Amino acid sequence: MRAERGILIVLSGPSGAGKSTVIKSLMKRRSDIRFSVSATTRQPRPGERDGEDYFFITREAFDELIAQDAFLEHAEYVGNCYGTPAAPVEKDLAAGYNVLLDIEVQGAAQVMAKRPDAVSVFLCPPSLAELERRLRGRGTDSEEKIVGRLKTARQEYKLLDQYAYIVVNDDADTAAAELDAIITAHLCRSENRIQFIADAKGEELS
Ligand code: ADP
Ligand code: 5GP
Repeated sequence: MRAERGILIVLSGPSGAGKSTVIKSLMKRRSDIRFSVSATTRQPRPGERDGEDYFFITREAFDELIAQDAFLEHAEYVGNCYGTPAAPVEKDLAAGYNVLLDIEVQGAAQVMAKRPDAVSVFLCPPSLAELERRLRGRGTDSEEKIVGRLKTARQEYKLLDQYAYIVVNDDADTAAAELDAIITAHLCRSENRIQFIADAKGEELS
């Protein structure tokens, strides 16, 4: 069953918590999700693809998009800029897809202020020690960036209570199953089902 209009899902969590890993697992479970590809000024990591993981753009191009009001939200994170292009999100929602944003806490707050109907989920690592292990194990960040990301993680934890749901990523498949369940539950909320019921009643009467 495809809803008239999809729901917006905001997923945040410290860098290294496993958001990309859990999202990949979630996308295998569900075909009704579209991942919102953000723009960023940071350098691609090995294996990351332009237009798939991110749109990798210059600071000038990023500022130009801000000037054009092309972002649903944008923020700076450990020295780089990140933003959600608004048009693809609107297009996918209007087509009935559920759109998943992988964004940090400042951007998430902007989205939740604009779109209170969004469902917000914070993905936590089991501990800060494990977060550090994962950041080092990923092997993609300099020591300076790892220290910055760990410091930022402590700040992010202070905003946990802004989120409707918290998922602990101990085992990635279990975390994906929990995220899947949250999305299913949210889709079953009455405000997201009203159109479906109206259509079903129409069928009954005809
Ligand atoms: P994020 O997108 O939140 O920055 P990643 O998905 O890149 O995080 O994961 C960071 C590192 O942790 C990667 O090397 C990934 O393979 C690893 N990882 C992710 N989830 C788990 C998990 N549940 N258990 C162990 N390692 C994990
Ligand atoms: P990374 O560099 O590890 O891919 O991402 C760093 C942080 O930026 C993560 O917390 C990620 O969720 C966040 N992020 C990615 N895209 C966006 C975006 O479009 N907007 C905002 N505000 N944060 C983003």
